[in-house]
Amino acid sequence: MATALPVQAQERLKVVASFSILGDFVKNVGGDRVDVTTLVGPNGDVHVYTPTPADAKKIADARLVIINGLGLEGWLPRLIQASGGKAPIITATRGITPLRLGSDADPHAWQSVASAKVYVANIRDALAAADPADAEMFLANARRYQAELDALEAAVRAAVEKIPPARRKVISTHDAFGYFAAAYGVEFIAPEGVSTETEPSARDVGAIISQIKSAKIPAVFLENISDPRLVSRIAAETGAKVGGTLFSDALTDEKGVCPTYIEMVRHNIKALTSALGN
Ligand code: ZN
Repeated sequence: MATALPVQAQERLKVVASFSILGDFVKNVGGDRVDVTTLVGPNGDVHVYTPTPADAKKIADARLVIINGLGLEGWLPRLIQASGGKAPIITATRGITPLRLGSDADPHAWQSVASAKVYVANIRDALAAADPADAEMFLANARRYQAELDALEAAVRAAVEKIPPARRKVISTHDAFGYFAAAYGVEFIAPEGVSTETEPSARDVGAIISQIKSAKIPAVFLENISDPRLVSRIAAETGAKVGGTLFSDALTDEKGVCPTYIEMVRHNIKALTSALGN
């Protein structure tokens, strides 16, 4: 890591986060001592993003760049190189054992709240290293936020507990909920893989339709970052109900229903419990 220069008293630490969920973590830990911008904005798809010249400028101006890693931001290395930026690049998933789907690492670790706490710890340490004068504040903010995440984790577990075990299975558009599934025991099946880059084949969709019928999967969900048509078609062909929208890889803007990570997880568990509870 590069040696951090001292931050002037009034100057806020410029941090770039690759997408909105990381941006929210940085805001919670950095408070008013950081100026955070995100590259992939509200409801954006971070898997297939096309960077702009403005993004290169943001990277060039940043003192710290926070990324998810695990192959999520395939477009980022070239952007960083093109920007000429020299800021340290921090991988927020460091220390998390990735789930695998075939040969691919599953990048969606934030969908487990326990893993989100690891992200927050990594971000706290990175901010403290970049701006040692504010380290105590980052520590205190992270502690407070992690306590909120502990309460959130308990709420998710309590909500899943109320769903009858046989009904704990759903269809989503892409495989974004593997960590949620592993942590909380709800099974997710998706026509698209861990990335949205490739469209599912007719055979993949056919297999899912058979699976929904034979396994009596009660509900299918739309995602905020994906085209709703595929899931709507699957619902129509199987009679499964559309349980609403799950927020997978992006928050909404301030006016939307999920402007923060905590609101996103709360929204998702509410959507799941209302569709899957009797
Ligand atoms: Zn995804």
